[in-house]
Amino acid sequence: MFGFTTIKAFHTALQNGQTTCVEAVLFYTKAIAEHAHLNAFLEVYETEAVERAMQLDAAAASGALTGPLHGVVVGLKDVIAHKGHTLTASSKMLGNFESVYNATVTEKLLAAGAIIIGRQNCDEFAMGSSNENSAFGPVLNAADNNKVSGGSSGGSAVAVQAGLCMISLGSDTGGSVRQPADFCGVVGIKPSYGRISRYGLIAYASSFDQIGIFSTTVEDAALVLEVIAGADEYDSTVSQRPVEPYSQAVASGMSIAASESDSSAKKYKLAYFKEALYHPSLDPAIQAQILSFIQSMQAAGHTVEPIDFNLLEYVVPTYYVLTTAEASSNLSRYDGVRFGHRTNKEGIDLTEMYKASRSEGFGEEVKRRILLGTFVLSEGFFDAYFTKAQQVRQLLKQRTDAIFSEYDAILSPTVPATAFAIGAKSDDPIEMFLADIYTVYPNLVGIPAISIPLFTHPNGMPFGLQLMTRSFDEMNLLQLSAQLMKLKS
Ligand code: GLN
Repeated sequence: MFGFTTIKAFHTALQNGQTTCVEAVLFYTKAIAEHAHLNAFLEVYETEAVERAMQLDAAAASGALTGPLHGVVVGLKDVIAHKGHTLTASSKMLGNFESVYNATVTEKLLAAGAIIIGRQNCDEFAMGSSNENSAFGPVLNAADNNKVSGGSSGGSAVAVQAGLCMISLGSDTGGSVRQPADFCGVVGIKPSYGRISRYGLIAYASSFDQIGIFSTTVEDAALVLEVIAGADEYDSTVSQRPVEPYSQAVASGMSIAASESDSSAKKYKLAYFKEALYHPSLDPAIQAQILSFIQSMQAAGHTVEPIDFNLLEYVVPTYYVLTTAEASSNLSRYDGVRFGHRTNKEGIDLTEMYKASRSEGFGEEVKRRILLGTFVLSEGFFDAYFTKAQQVRQLLKQRTDAIFSEYDAILSPTVPATAFAIGAKSDDPIEMFLADIYTVYPNLVGIPAISIPLFTHPNGMPFGLQLMTRSFDEMNLLQLSAQLMKLKS
């Protein structure tokens, strides 16, 4: 009987002849079918996945695995290009658009031996926090089917939560990996801006977008990051810095902690923002559990100190001004001519054709953001909104540099509350935006951030702790996360 704990354990089982890649694929396709009501997958590539699994099993018959992700069953958020497969961003706008090339991450996954099992539901064009903006319906949280999955990468989070694949890739512009990871009780990491190539990722807000990883363990996230990160000639914003051996470092840190007692593990100096932990919107039970966990961290030898961060109230408005501006530009390509749905209306001129095509193709939230973005970029308002928001972004970066000159990491809640009921916030976009208070900050300044599933709320729902480190310090982010997961257990 197939069971998945970690990629490493799966590989050991493969090499001991206890399982096969085909068995793994069949296990997951069955699980997906049994959990179809969750609506996590928009499409499953069963035949193709079984064929690839057979090839991988044959190639590894002599015992050597073909790559670090040999047989690893992965789901892709429907914004990541996969050659020859439909790509819709969960929008009617893209219809049956078929990708003619692979995203760099898709290439790297396949080269490392991964099996892509399907395409996952998300908020339309990755805009949203609940997956309710998908043209293909919401994704249900597997912990409580009346609750949202979070978003925008809701399908990807629930697929890992419900055991429908080993790993999912999502995208995170302002929390779309970490927030659904928090709501679903899984690990979700958004690396530094520029750590992973965005080539082949459908753009929402290009100076914020970053591909991220969902997994059940920090060790698996480290391994996958190591495979998909790194320089890429197709994305000029991706960093040339060499990728560090994250998985090895996390694994050796774990074995030190396990064998020689926790006292030999590295001690960290962390800050938390008073304004974040004492924010009026924060659920008191979340606050209490995090404060008590801080005490456990201190008892384990870490330094954790409160600091002032008086810019917190500006992060959500700054994020929504800048991302909608970038979105209004990025989404202009969907005009029914270059890309996207074209209206059937006849006898209309070109401008009417654009209007009708875009009105018919885009959903309500995407339209709201295009309008907002166009407004903040318009001549009379540009300085008051766009320029101002850029200035705030600069201030945030300066303040962040100052914090990291004194501290190794920052911790915060990932989200102010646990997953809410489907439909509960649909009529109030502002309330939905405000709940992004903790997750948008790392995207504004480009630092890496992770949500690790440490807690259960008295209401029965899971929630996470968000950790952040300086740009390109994924190594400490992952090592610290692995240590804290152990501290909790
Ligand atoms: N919830 C945020 C938004 O709606 C984040 C989206 C994302 O990270 N793609 O913009």
